[in-house]
Amino acid sequence: MTEAPGTSPGPAASAAAIAADVRSGRRSASAVTEQSLAAIAAGDGEVNAFALVTADSARRRAEEIDARVAAGADPGPLAGVPVALKDNLCTRGVPTTCCSRILDGWCPPYDATVVERLAAAGAVVVGKSNMDEFAMGSSTETSAFGPTRNPRDTSRVPGGSSGGSAAAVAAGFTPIALGSDTGGSVRQPAALCGVVGMKPTYGTVSRYGLVAFASSLDQVGPLAATVADAALLFDIIGGHDERDTTSLDRPAPRLASVVDQGVDGMTIGVLAEYLEGADPAVAGRIAQAAEVLAAAGARVEEVSVPEVRLGLSAYYLIAPAEASSNLARYDGVRYGLRVDAEDTVEMNVATRSAGFGAEVKRRIMLGTYALSAGYLDAYYGQALRVRTRIIDGFAVAYERCDALLGPTAPTTAFELGAKLDDPLSMYLSDVCTIPSNLAGHPAISVPFGTGSDGLPVGAQVLAPALAEATMFKVAAVLEAGAPVGGAA
Ligand code: GLN
Repeated sequence: MTEAPGTSPGPAASAAAIAADVRSGRRSASAVTEQSLAAIAAGDGEVNAFALVTADSARRRAEEIDARVAAGADPGPLAGVPVALKDNLCTRGVPTTCCSRILDGWCPPYDATVVERLAAAGAVVVGKSNMDEFAMGSSTETSAFGPTRNPRDTSRVPGGSSGGSAAAVAAGFTPIALGSDTGGSVRQPAALCGVVGMKPTYGTVSRYGLVAFASSLDQVGPLAATVADAALLFDIIGGHDERDTTSLDRPAPRLASVVDQGVDGMTIGVLAEYLEGADPAVAGRIAQAAEVLAAAGARVEEVSVPEVRLGLSAYYLIAPAEASSNLARYDGVRYGLRVDAEDTVEMNVATRSAGFGAEVKRRIMLGTYALSAGYLDAYYGQALRVRTRIIDGFAVAYERCDALLGPTAPTTAFELGAKLDDPLSMYLSDVCTIPSNLAGHPAISVPFGTGSDGLPVGAQVLAPALAEATMFKVAAVLEAGAPVGGAA
């Protein structure tokens, strides 16, 4: 592991340990916050994980928490824990730009539900993290705030689109962060930065206050240095929210208490299609991960779900189609940027031309085309039918298997600039993450050793809808059995 100059080697303590210390008065929330802000001040010039650091409000918030502890109250399970929020999560009175020029200066009048829940649990928001513009990308290079660099090797990308959140955790700026995952944007950067990242079952985490990209795919997900912290964070942000019509009416999850229960008696399928295009060193790590699960008492077998090969092409019709509709609201009238012109239509065109970057424009054009009269059924309709086939394909695998295993991404972190001019090769970074979004299923990426370049490899565990508990048990066994150091 090559350490970036000025970045600290990793999180000093887990979120759970920090909260235990703050709740019991062993450490103050203010001291923890200062440590996080100092790490950001020292290292973020190079990493650029943050679009905005909210130092003043973080300090005020930490003081409030310390006052509550002094008064004998319990600030909650994340008491004093610093957290980074992806910049597509609405924060009341605090700029929320999706790292796009078109939302320059926009401050939401309300907090996202997940932000409210973090506050209620005692967390301290230290900033808004960098991301690909409108969460479209796999490298965090399309941000209006400039690229984020991978703290493990600053010549490499951190993955994306939640690259700022993953880098913040990997650099030790914050022990936990929130991202959003539409096609892999929590799991892929987690894998490339060597941290844990999870996409929940669609409908288990509220999308209220998450700026919409592709509404049938978007889910907010936790990033953390450990599986246990990811479970804790999911327990806090998950559960029904009446303000999101796609929110499942189920009680909040309770995973933190089950993560250590092991995989004895489970059947786990190694997903053959996910190994097809993988770098040999990455594939080698997944084979090793399968051995760890077998040694822990799971039955491990090879499984084929051929339908997942269709995921990428279906996703790049469905996601842009939904995005083209969702992004119609940025018209120069209601939010952020306005470029004045002769009349309203000209203003609208001038604003959108100046405000959106090239990748966002490409998605809007793709999506508008897929939805246009005469092409709707051939493109969008066909993609929806493929989506159903993927769901059916997974269902067959889950008749035999409790969970599936594969790589999170086909390669380790690539060089900055390597794929920026080649959208198709960039899109291929998500070939192993997209099918879970299309199916609405949960999936988690766990660091599992390094590739031949010494950079982190992520092992991905997939599970059927609402089987997060199973998935976290598998993830915890992989975490405990992960190889330490050494190239594959
Ligand atoms: N990289 C994929 C895309 O560009 C996924 C993005 C995401 O999950 N937000 O669409």
